[in-house]
Amino acid sequence: MSSSIDIKSASGTYQAHVGRGILDEYLKKEIASLNPNNLFVLIDENVRKHHSQHLEPLFDKLSERVHLLSVPEGESSKSLAFWSEILDFLLQNHLQRSDAVVVIGGGVTGDVGAFAAASALRGVPLIHIPTTLLAMVDSSIGGKTGINHEMGKNLIGAFYQPKSVIADTRFLDTLPEMEWSNGLSEVLKYGAIRDRVIFDECERFLDGNRNKIPAKTLISLITRCIRVKADVVAEDEFEGGIRAFLNYGHTFAHALERACDYGKISHGEAVWLGMIAAQHLSKLRGYEAEGDFIRKFRPLYHFRVSAEELSSDELNRHMKSDKKRDGDHIRFILLKKWQHPVIETVMDEDQVNEAWQMVFRQISPSTKQ
Ligand code: ADP
Ligand code: ZN
Repeated sequence: MSSSIDIKSASGTYQAHVGRGILDEYLKKEIASLNPNNLFVLIDENVRKHHSQHLEPLFDKLSERVHLLSVPEGESSKSLAFWSEILDFLLQNHLQRSDAVVVIGGGVTGDVGAFAAASALRGVPLIHIPTTLLAMVDSSIGGKTGINHEMGKNLIGAFYQPKSVIADTRFLDTLPEMEWSNGLSEVLKYGAIRDRVIFDECERFLDGNRNKIPAKTLISLITRCIRVKADVVAEDEFEGGIRAFLNYGHTFAHALERACDYGKISHGEAVWLGMIAAQHLSKLRGYEAEGDFIRKFRPLYHFRVSAEELSSDELNRHMKSDKKRDGDHIRFILLKKWQHPVIETVMDEDQVNEAWQMVFRQISPSTKQ
């Protein structure tokens, strides 16, 4: 069982394929149609460790000239230094325009690898093989590529669309637990802004054992998320309008990540808390986002930061220095009701502080749910 979703962009339409055990078939097809002289593979070091028995014979079948580079785990691979290392690897092995670059890994490998593919020789064919839930539903879709700069995250990059995306859920068998909840936050985000069925399908995550989620459910869930992202991005490829809805929860989340120096909180944890804050702020402004569709997933998150370490003043300062502000006031994605997002500038700082209080309650030890 698998599904294929059309992703439309200014540079053409390509497909994302989702299924279990589909990698060999789709990669073979894609390589046959590109017919590269050299095949360059950039692969997350942990994915390589867990899956090399399957992957290495596959690469050997695909091409006689396979060049493999491991990408070390962690944000430090999203650097100018590592991007430059990838370019050395590609160019020293005589990359040509007609070759192909395959990136296999989570958001880190995908972002830096795709940026290298976008910039080498001004762009060579790229295939995304996301291996985390987050990368399957978010970072591999929409053409964003990028690396960090000491002035901030993701400040360098380009929009660059792949030839195709192959999301094989078999990779998720080895995904560490924390990475599941990281991805779950983005999945719930799509449920909140557009597709109610996503909430229902996520109930499976509450059973405890991720590896018992039926393949069919997982494929359906990932497909739904990709469809939401693809639809929104197609309507607004270069950002400006409704693409901002994909940032639901993220204005709060980025402030939390900065307050924790990107250390004590993961992106997914921050996004989950940010969505709780945004829902609360929506209610304070008279909207009807009732129900605990997101809050009920609290048991899946294990926060390492405590409320005492955070202050709403500091968090508000971070939000105001974010690049997407509107003068001195902050623009939030709120919910008129579930699946009905709006963009709104909020002048009333007391309301924002109350939203932060809701976040603090979620991470203080006395909060059971
Ligand atoms: P994200 O997709 O959340 O941005 P990263 O690219 O940082 O994540 O990957 C998160 C972590 O999971 C890294 O340590 C990476 O090596 C590891 N990883 C990625 N995919 C898998 C997988 N399928 N199995 C095991 N570990 C994985
Ligand atoms: Zn995110």
